[in-house]
Amino acid sequence: MKYKILCTDGFGKAGLDELGQSSLIEVVFEKSLTHEELVAKIGPYDGLIVRSASLVSRDVIEAGVNLKVIARAGVGTDNIDLEAATEKGIFVVNAPAGNTTSTAELAFAMILALSRHIPQAAHAMTEGRWEKKKFMGTEIAGKVLGVIGFGRIGREVARRAKSFQMNVMAYDPYLNDAQFETSGANPASLEDIFRNADYITVHTPLTDETQNLITGRELCMMKKTAHIINCARGGIVNEEDLAAALKDGTIAGAALDVFTEEPFKRPIFQNLENVILTPHLGASTREAQDAVAIEAARAVIGFFSEGMSLGAVNLDVAGRHAEGLKAHIELAEKLGVLVSQISEGCINKLTIRSSAAMANVLALAAVKGALAGCQGRQVTLVNAASVAKEQGIAVAQETVGGRQDFTNAFGIVAEARSGRQEVWGTILLDGTPQIVSLNSYRVEIIPRGQMLLIQNSDRPGVIGRISSILGNAGVNIAEMQNVRNRKGADALTIIRVDDGVDKEVLNVIGKDEAVIKAWHISL
Ligand code: NAD
Repeated sequence: MKYKILCTDGFGKAGLDELGQSSLIEVVFEKSLTHEELVAKIGPYDGLIVRSASLVSRDVIEAGVNLKVIARAGVGTDNIDLEAATEKGIFVVNAPAGNTTSTAELAFAMILALSRHIPQAAHAMTEGRWEKKKFMGTEIAGKVLGVIGFGRIGREVARRAKSFQMNVMAYDPYLNDAQFETSGANPASLEDIFRNADYITVHTPLTDETQNLITGRELCMMKKTAHIINCARGGIVNEEDLAAALKDGTIAGAALDVFTEEPFKRPIFQNLENVILTPHLGASTREAQDAVAIEAARAVIGFFSEGMSLGAVNLDVAGRHAEGLKAHIELAEKLGVLVSQISEGCINKLTIRSSAAMANVLALAAVKGALAGCQGRQVTLVNAASVAKEQGIAVAQETVGGRQDFTNAFGIVAEARSGRQEVWGTILLDGTPQIVSLNSYRVEIIPRGQMLLIQNSDRPGVIGRISSILGNAGVNIAEMQNVRNRKGADALTIIRVDDGVDKEVLNVIGKDEAVIKAWHISL
């Protein structure tokens, strides 16, 4: 079976080619669709890839009954209703890295253009004016560049600045000093940058914290010769305050590629010669468009081959740091399935006992497993927490440093009215997942396939009788394990079978005088 992906909004050929190479995917390309057409067509598709033109609102998401992933070929996901997608367990992925080089190059071009008045001089020339004296510039070598927001683009700008012999200072409260040092930038405070930088370039997302990060107050701290560049998001630099500062010479110049309202039509920068405005061109290069399309296509292919996307924008933040934890996540999901199959009645609390670093994403995976098959609803890592809440299941995380017998094991405790079940698992050094304990039994179970778990009173003959019942029912035993309870009171017999076992057969086993409880498990 292939997953059907609908690509629209003029999604790039490079991305279509990438998708076309995947044996998992069948691509349908509709260059552009009206909103009504999108709602009408989305039903059969497993995935949707858009750029910025389509509004993937709640009605589209509700009509997309098979949707599992929505990809935005670009960074911002403002045109996708994240809340509606999350409720339905749909992963929303984006392509944040594809336009890094292009945007960094534009920001750097702005620095050079500001220092040498290139657009203004070119404009004068096309109007027949030779104004050599007017356009006296400054070198950027030896000048201080202040980078605010030291992520993908900020760092690329810094790298370019270093090769132009600029001194780079950077501010990013979410990074540690080592992350600055590897890029040759000196970590600095915001005030340091405002007071000392000759060029200040912002590369943060637009958040409550960064909106109006630079207003009249900050502009007044800057050198009169300072320049500001904003190729990130409109609103980080207050446009009115900037226009006023450019008019009265508080700072020397500014270059903006992004605006609070786009298209930007307000005349506040009219007749100012010390400002360069471009119409949001950061990602407008052929290379960036191709890179973004390929990145979005790979995110979708990755999603269908892995069954999840840890980089999804609507996955709880900690999940994004979970690359490398895939095997643990899959095991946590299996442990969730296991505790739900051995719990009688509804689970009312799930506790994840693990190291702090893994807790969040493992909790989501365990909840997903415990809720598998929940009312025919799609439960994924994305909506596991909210579905658990709706179902009245409390989810708790308990930080533990592992177990004495297994350093990196983690446990899931399920509490139901009928009692408590605790199961622990680990990933062995060779990458094999293993269930290592089930309540008070120390076990070695590879979590896959069909199994019978038979708790019995550990008396002679019981295993022989169980085997006979299975043999008479034509059930082949693939593997068998018998473990004693740590207190030595009873035993657990684990029988891996090739196929399912009829309820009737399980009932007969359950009636044996030495059998306390028997479960059929499917992992
Ligand atoms: P990124 O996530 O890699 O980096 C953003 C950095 O900002 C992170 O390191 C983060 O820690 C930092 N940050 C967050 N809040 C901060 C704060 N209050 N103060 C200082 N730093 C803070 O993102 P990126 O890919 O480098 O993109 C940066 C910006 O560029 C984004 O706003 C993005 O939307 C924009 N962008 C614009 C264009 C364009 O066409 N002009 C193209 C691509 C990206």
